[in-house]
Amino acid sequence: ATMPPLLSAIANAGRHGVLVKSAVVMERLGQVDAVALDKTGTLTEGSPRVTDVRPLPGTGLDERALLTLAAAAERPSEHPLARAVVDAARGRGLDLPDAQDFTSAPGVGVTAVVDGRTVAVGAPARLLDDTDGTAAELEESGRTAVLVVVDGVPAGLLGIADRLRPDAAATVASLARLTGSAPVLLTGDNPRAAAHLADEAGIDDVRAGLLPQDKLDAVREMESAGRKVLVVGDGVNDAPALAAAHTGIAMGRAGSDLALETADAVIVRDELAAVPATVALSRRARRLVV
Ligand code: ADP
Ligand code: MG
Repeated sequence: ATMPPLLSAIANAGRHGVLVKSAVVMERLGQVDAVALDKTGTLTEGSPRVTDVRPLPGTGLDERALLTLAAAAERPSEHPLARAVVDAARGRGLDLPDAQDFTSAPGVGVTAVVDGRTVAVGAPARLLDDTDGTAAELEESGRTAVLVVVDGVPAGLLGIADRLRPDAAATVASLARLTGSAPVLLTGDNPRAAAHLADEAGIDDVRAGLLPQDKLDAVREMESAGRKVLVVGDGVNDAPALAAAHTGIAMGRAGSDLALETADAVIVRDELAAVPATVALSRRARRLVV
């Protein structure tokens, strides 16, 4: 017997490194006419590195002490930025004390008690009402500035840099061609870093500083305007948008468990170009089915 077209398409998608969870999803992928992309871990490689460690004056912390507190608090987190902070501390041979009472807020950051001190690590604009020029200077260059607050007092900043995926710009262009509309960027990161990266990727429509609920609202708004939105993301913060989208695809290698479970398809091999390839496969299969 010959395989039904949608099942052959699923097998082909598998060869491109995409796990499509059902024939229904395989069919829906070809219907999308708008695309919303996450930034960190989706358009970027998701293996960020700490480039700057800057204690604030008057806190009595040096670089090593600041990085130790931040990394100890971040250790339980699965966020790519958390891994960058822990790797930076390990790279400097720092011993990390155990953290207690760990909490994380998607799109914001983490808190934990380290050596009796309450440490918060996260987006400066979410932790403080008024952040000064230091974060802005890091962000202008496309880096993500992460603020470390110790016992309620701002203690320092970490600058974190991630690279655009090599196939990001080509993928954005293919998706624009295939769907007939320019992809939009939905990110929790700061507007300056987001604009810098969007420019490199060829994206004009950038929405930054978004919480998970804001990403969801953006997708709902596009859908209620009649669009069938494809969401591509990797984080816990992308899960609500992935669930609400016409079709959701998760980046598998470094993606959070929640994103992988929520998405309709998973990119198992780490190539963003597999997204337009799979949409094209669906289109072809649908022509054979109809
Ligand atoms: P994106 O939407 O680009 O994938 P996220 O929503 O995951 O980004 O994160 C948004 C912002 O929240 C980050 O740029 C960072 O400032 C902050 N943040 C989130 N999680 C963490 C964490 N574990 N450590 C430090 N900062 C974090
Ligand atoms: Mg992400």
